[in-house]
Amino acid sequence: MMQYLETLHGPYGQYFAVERELYRDKTDYQDLVIFENKIFGKVLALDGAIQTTTRDNHPYHEMLLHVPLLAHGDAKQVLIIGGGDGGSLREAVKHPLERAVMVEIDSEVIDLSKRYLPELSDGAFDNPKAEVVIADGCRYVAETTDRFDVIVVDSTDPIGPGKVLFTSEFYRDCKRCLNPGGILVTQHGVPLLQADELTDGYRKLSALFDDVTFYLTVVPTYTGGAMTLGWATDEPRHRKVPLGKLEERFAGLGIETHYYSPAVHQGAFALPPDVQRLLTK
Ligand code: SAM
Repeated sequence: MMQYLETLHGPYGQYFAVERELYRDKTDYQDLVIFENKIFGKVLALDGAIQTTTRDNHPYHEMLLHVPLLAHGDAKQVLIIGGGDGGSLREAVKHPLERAVMVEIDSEVIDLSKRYLPELSDGAFDNPKAEVVIADGCRYVAETTDRFDVIVVDSTDPIGPGKVLFTSEFYRDCKRCLNPGGILVTQHGVPLLQADELTDGYRKLSALFDDVTFYLTVVPTYTGGAMTLGWATDEPRHRKVPLGKLEERFAGLGIETHYYSPAVHQGAFALPPDVQRLLTK
């Protein structure tokens, strides 16, 4: 049986037994592979890095979207940068928004995810709130006059087309696109293996926003332990929403989740000392 070897972390990686390869090609931007594995179901990989699987995507997409949206409590306009598989859009449209705009650079990731991984978006691309823009996210935030309450960066790692989504210029433009009290959430990989990425993100974000921290989630196929999501806002109250208030807002959605709960939301901001020490200016 064929094996897929992830190459993201150089001297350490993971393999998947490939039950069936569904697609393999080079898009205009990256190498794309979709295959089936007995444990993780359908798996999407870009440029040698696992992006998402049908089995373990929930701790990622639910925490990326529900944490800022429920902390904000009144978000109407949401911007997702990247996220071509549609998992983030799927969670976004569960909220009472007016608009969820997704800006993805690679239209083939969207088309192939819709075709081979429809469970990921679960119809979200056809939701009336959803608006898809095919563009470089960095360029989009530099040029748009639209404003958003929450911006979520569902990016690849800082290699290939995703590299620009980890720059100070990009974060500065995201801030410009936020309404007052808006929240920016970013993804910074696994601190055990990508410590520099976390420190770099903290330095850049804390130069721009009043309240910057990271929160944790655990996605088994992002190997190396818990991963960090960046949190940046000028409104410190969003981080201190009481549990009862989060529970009330969550109950108002009337949805079932796999990983997110208001208690998990609050606990996710508790960082182990080794992670806390990486947040240095
Ligand atoms: N969170 C996942 C991970 O860490 O493995 C990433 C999932 S999602 C598939 C990432 C998406 O970001 C990809 O579809 C990729 O095409 C898109 N992307 C990369 N660079 C981008 C850019 N500059 N602008 C917009 N989208 C970009």
